[in-house]
Amino acid sequence: LASREMKPDDTVIPLPQGTIGGGSFTVIAGPCSVENEAMLLRTAEFLRQQGVRFLRAGAYKPRTSPYAFQGLGRQGLRILAQARQRFGLGIVTELMDTEEAEAVAEVADIIQIGARNMQNFALLRRVGRCRKPVLLKRGLCATLEEWLMAAEYILAEGNYQVILCERGVRTFSDHSRNTLDLSVIPPAKAWSHLPILVDPSHGTGKRAYVPPMALAALAAGADGLLIEVHPEPDKALSDGPQSLDFPAFEQLWHRLARLAEVL
Ligand code: PEP
Ligand code: MN
Repeated sequence: LASREMKPDDTVIPLPQGTIGGGSFTVIAGPCSVENEAMLLRTAEFLRQQGVRFLRAGAYKPRTSPYAFQGLGRQGLRILAQARQRFGLGIVTELMDTEEAEAVAEVADIIQIGARNMQNFALLRRVGRCRKPVLLKRGLCATLEEWLMAAEYILAEGNYQVILCERGVRTFSDHSRNTLDLSVIPPAKAWSHLPILVDPSHGTGKRAYVPPMALAALAAGADGLLIEVHPEPDKALSDGPQSLDFPAFEQLWHRLARLAEVL
C-alpha cells in the first residue's frame, strides 16, 4: 500500500490548518517538550505570528535516561489543546503507548510516532485504527525498506494518512548527533507516494547546523520540515542545544521563503 506501484499519485493530506504533500511545503515547529503553559503559549503565539500552521511539542518524551524529564503527560495534552484553541494551530504530538492513544488522538491533529518506536508494531497497528494522520519518524538504523514496511502496518489497518519524517540515522560520524540522510528523499519519493518531511533538529543535534540542512531539505524535494524552537533554548528541559531561538527561526523562515521562490 505504501508503494508508488500500487498508487502512482502523491498522497495529499488535507487538514483544516493546511495541506501536507502534493507540492505544498509545510513547516511544523515548536519546543521539544511541553514544559509549562507559559512557554508553550508564548512559542505558539510567536509561531502563529510568523505564519506557521502546525505546532509540535511532546507531552510524552522518549528519553534515554529514565531519570530525565519525561514530559507532563495528560497535563501537557491539556496545554496543547489550549494552544490549539487560542491560536488555531494544528497540533503534532508523540504517542508512546497504546494506552494513551485515545487521549493523544483527541488533542492531536497529527500523531507522531518517534524514531525509537518505528517498529513498535502494536503501536503502529493502534494508530492505524485512529482517524488522524500519523507522522512516522525513521528509526535510528532503519533502511528505507524497513521504514516503508513500518508505514505499511499503519496503512494496512485502514489509515492512509501517513507522513514520513527523516530525522537522521546512526553512523560512525560523530560530528553531529545523527547523520541526516537527505539522500533518502529521492528514493523515498520514487518508491512511495507518501509525503516526506525532514527534521534537521534531531538530525544534527546542533542549532548552528539546522538552517543549512533545512534549506538543503527544501532543495532536495522534501514536503516540509520539523524544527525545534524554544523561547530560551539554554533553559530547555530537553534538546536545548538543537533548538532555535525566536530570532534564528525567523531568519530561517525568511530564507526558506526566498529559496522556495527560485525552486
Ligand atoms: C522528538 O521529536 O522530540 C523526538 C524525540 O524525536 P525522535 O523520535 O526522532 O528522536
Ligand atoms: Mn526533541
